[in-house]
Amino acid sequence: MSTGGLLECAAVPVVTRYAPSPTGALHIGGARTALFCWAYARHHDGQFLLRFEDTDRERSTLESETVVLEALRWLGIDWDAVPGFEDVPRQSERGPRYEEVLAKLLESGAAYRCVCDDARLEHLRERARQGGQAAVYDGACRERGIAADCAEPFCVRLRIDAHAPTRWDDAIAGASGQDASDLGDYVVARTDGTPIYHLACSVDDHDMGVTHVIRGREHMSSTSRQLPLYSAMGWQPPAFAHVPLLVEASGKKLSKRQDAVSVQSYRERGFSPQAVLNFIARLGWGHGDLELFDREQLAEVFEMSGVGHSASQVHEDKLLWISQHWIKTLPMDELVEQLQPFLDAEAGRPVEDSAELRKLLDLLRERSKTWVEMAAQAGFWLRDEIELDPKAARKQLKAGIAGPLGELRAALADLTEWTEETLDPTFHAVAEKHDLKLGKLAQPVRVAIVGVPQSPGIFETLAVLGKQRSLQRIGAALEYIAARDSEGGD
Ligand code: GLU
Repeated sequence: MSTGGLLECAAVPVVTRYAPSPTGALHIGGARTALFCWAYARHHDGQFLLRFEDTDRERSTLESETVVLEALRWLGIDWDAVPGFEDVPRQSERGPRYEEVLAKLLESGAAYRCVCDDARLEHLRERARQGGQAAVYDGACRERGIAADCAEPFCVRLRIDAHAPTRWDDAIAGASGQDASDLGDYVVARTDGTPIYHLACSVDDHDMGVTHVIRGREHMSSTSRQLPLYSAMGWQPPAFAHVPLLVEASGKKLSKRQDAVSVQSYRERGFSPQAVLNFIARLGWGHGDLELFDREQLAEVFEMSGVGHSASQVHEDKLLWISQHWIKTLPMDELVEQLQPFLDAEAGRPVEDSAELRKLLDLLRERSKTWVEMAAQAGFWLRDEIELDPKAARKQLKAGIAGPLGELRAALADLTEWTEETLDPTFHAVAEKHDLKLGKLAQPVRVAIVGVPQSPGIFETLAVLGKQRSLQRIGAALEYIAARDSEGGD
């Protein structure tokens, strides 16, 4: 059966959905699926819906729901309300609807009750294993007409005939599916009456009017099972698009449980939502040479034809590169807003926004790959006291520089204006007098005022630090040199 045609049919309003099982954090694989669903819907002026597949009652938690929603919000993936639901629908609250569909399937004969016990099923599996075949239920209960009042425990199975529609034209993978005979009559409701995932998922997708199911490739075998359900209910199935897997740079499968690849962890590590969204969109999707784009641009150009067929590797270097771009280009107001918690953490107190702070951030944004890195680089400005990096201090703050440094400090103290324009000639004059290259004077000053041998340009850095703090730190460096000298340091 081909369902791929729907994709080109402009007349059908697009409805996509992301259907996470709330059993943990939102990792980048899930976030990417959500993003592709969102972008496809937005591109087609359609609807993007959410629902929680929480039928695994033991592993599903409300906390995880919150984490998932929070991660989506943070990324800027907004969703539409599902008609008839105030909140994001949960499968656990839709039991009566699934029972209704089950009853219809039983009534029409598309499904039947099965009393085969575990021992018999295990026997079938063992026999299949020995014969080197896939374990398929043999249909023993098919024609037994087991009624609802049967005293034995029974499950409900969907009848999968040889001609059942188990193949489809996948919008990404192309011709897909497996033979109906490889599936067998599978269980749609357990012995306790609860529906299994395939039933709940198909009923929900139908009820929510989903036109395009975009999900991970690991769900492909589900599609073969779900298509016959649509057919049994006389429903039009949606189009299916299965997104290739994500793998680590080493080629190994990216494990869902790896905390390191959760959206929350990227957030904590100081990546902007713009960077993470940009990064995950490029995992398996492309549009010409486009590397850097925002949410709106993505929605504008997103097409399923841009999704590749093979697994995509998650390269952290790429994320750092993308992140650097976003740090450089974000409007200052937004930069401050995003950086604020990292600055507060670095300073150990709430940091006030100010023109001076913004001057500093303008310098640092050119040289930071994450908010964490940027906040650390701002440390010398945030704190009144700095610690000298021992190695840098040993190298740059030697006895020989004490004279020029002392003179520089005196000349700087005489400045009435503290700007790059006044600092520059003051430095040059002292350097020339001592026949020093500018760097030979600038580098000790840098270590003195920042603590480490890296910072933006020395004049900009001094200007933003301010006269008083700069002089005080150069003074402290001179004391350090004197103390070291008296201890007989080199
Ligand atoms: N609940 C499934 C998951 O979290 C998604 C199934 C689907 O998209 O159909 O992996």
